[in-house]
Amino acid sequence: MRIAMIGTGYVGLVSGACFADFGHQVCCVDKDAAKIDGLNEGRMPIWEPGLEALVKANEDRGRLTFTTDLAAGVEGAEAVFIAVGTPTRRGDGHADLTFVFDAVRELAKVIAPGSVVVTKSTVPVGTGDRIEEILREEGVADVSVASNPEFLREGAAIADFKHPDRIVVGAEDQRAQDVLREIYRPLFLNRAPILFTARRTAELTKYAANAFLAVKISFINEIADLCEAVDADVQDVARGIGLDNRIGAKFLHAGPGYGGSCFPKDTLALLKTADNVGIDQRIVRTTVEVNDHRKATMVDRVEGPLGSLSGKRVGVLGLAFKPNTDDMREAPSIPLINSLIERGASVTAFDPVAGEQAEKIFKDVAFAPDAYAAAANADALVIVTEWDEFRALDLEKIAGSMRGKILVDLRNVYDREEAEEAGLTYFGVGRGRIGPAPKSSSLA
Ligand code: NAD
Repeated sequence: MRIAMIGTGYVGLVSGACFADFGHQVCCVDKDAAKIDGLNEGRMPIWEPGLEALVKANEDRGRLTFTTDLAAGVEGAEAVFIAVGTPTRRGDGHADLTFVFDAVRELAKVIAPGSVVVTKSTVPVGTGDRIEEILREEGVADVSVASNPEFLREGAAIADFKHPDRIVVGAEDQRAQDVLREIYRPLFLNRAPILFTARRTAELTKYAANAFLAVKISFINEIADLCEAVDADVQDVARGIGLDNRIGAKFLHAGPGYGGSCFPKDTLALLKTADNVGIDQRIVRTTVEVNDHRKATMVDRVEGPLGSLSGKRVGVLGLAFKPNTDDMREAPSIPLINSLIERGASVTAFDPVAGEQAEKIFKDVAFAPDAYAAAANADALVIVTEWDEFRALDLEKIAGSMRGKILVDLRNVYDREEAEEAGLTYFGVGRGRIGPAPKSSSLA
């Protein structure tokens, strides 16, 4: 099948490369000429494990091409996927659909009758209806519009795309269903469940999934706070509840709060959708508040053990919003580092791949070439992103090179015992009492 992919970012590039790998003929279109030039010269615009090899292999076999020319990109395509950004609209939290609608208007000039337009971008309920309207306004007839939200995770995007827990397709007509069934046929052979729903249902399913995961993270973060007050261990609580199949073990890692390009914006957009129709979504609203508060207060976890941050040196390990990506969007490291600097600390940071992106965000941060250099002479070392290479650091070497001996482990990578044996004073998240025992008993 011939497929066009409009938008060649994290989702469009991975989806396009994976579709090509299934054997489809894929043309990826982006209006960012530098991105397309780079791709045509073999340079990836993002850091994603396995992507470069996958792109190259499919380019070499002639199944994957890149262009800025939309007309050439969609020529002969039976399905045109839209995978452009849907960031938060300034002011009201709604998804900004400018990129989607602009792409549809441009597409209207070149799309052939009989094709299927598929939104892969995360778009609010009713966007498919609006796309149909725009196509009609532009004089386009006989084009189907479907929704196929993407659930891949950055850092594991190729594996997620090729082995999805499920594929959700919102289609209002048989043609759209048939085309999408054919596109995903290689995955049915792997028994990936495909769920056909109404288009609005598919659009909402994506937001409901992300909101639920955000709730799970915020829930365990609040339980972690409680653990610190009553001297319990959140890692064990998480395991104790996660082994219950009704709950599930994933997304129960206490930490500095969720970030990234999806959960923060998608929870806000869900709230806006609900607001527009007069439905209160109290759980999601509270989750957003809990997470914003959490990210803003991580600095206190560093200041607490140091007394004051003024004149202190803080080493930061990990800047990306999660491991295996260079994506800095809404990363917990951003409010943390900004607050550390505001309160008078100097920061030396290291991230295995996000340094280049981070340099665009932080003005007053020194970037170290590795974890040990970030720790050298620091009063406190903070683990913000749990990259694998931070999991087996030589803690004795680190302790020996630091001015103070404080390790603030916001991802619970290390055990207190091993850190203390190495000469560090350890502060994890939700792992036993922090501060004095409460005066009142929790049994009262
Ligand atoms: P991104 O910002 O990395 O990429 C978007 C790309 O679209 C950019 O390269 C931009 O130049 C291009 N673009 C914008 N308008 C265009 C136009 N008119 N014609 C051609 N190209 C155009 O975005 P992303 O992270 O890939 O996210 C895309 C969508 O997928 C969003 O709706 C997002 O919520 C959703 N999503 C993202 C993830 C993720 O992990 N990043 C996961 C699931 C869903």
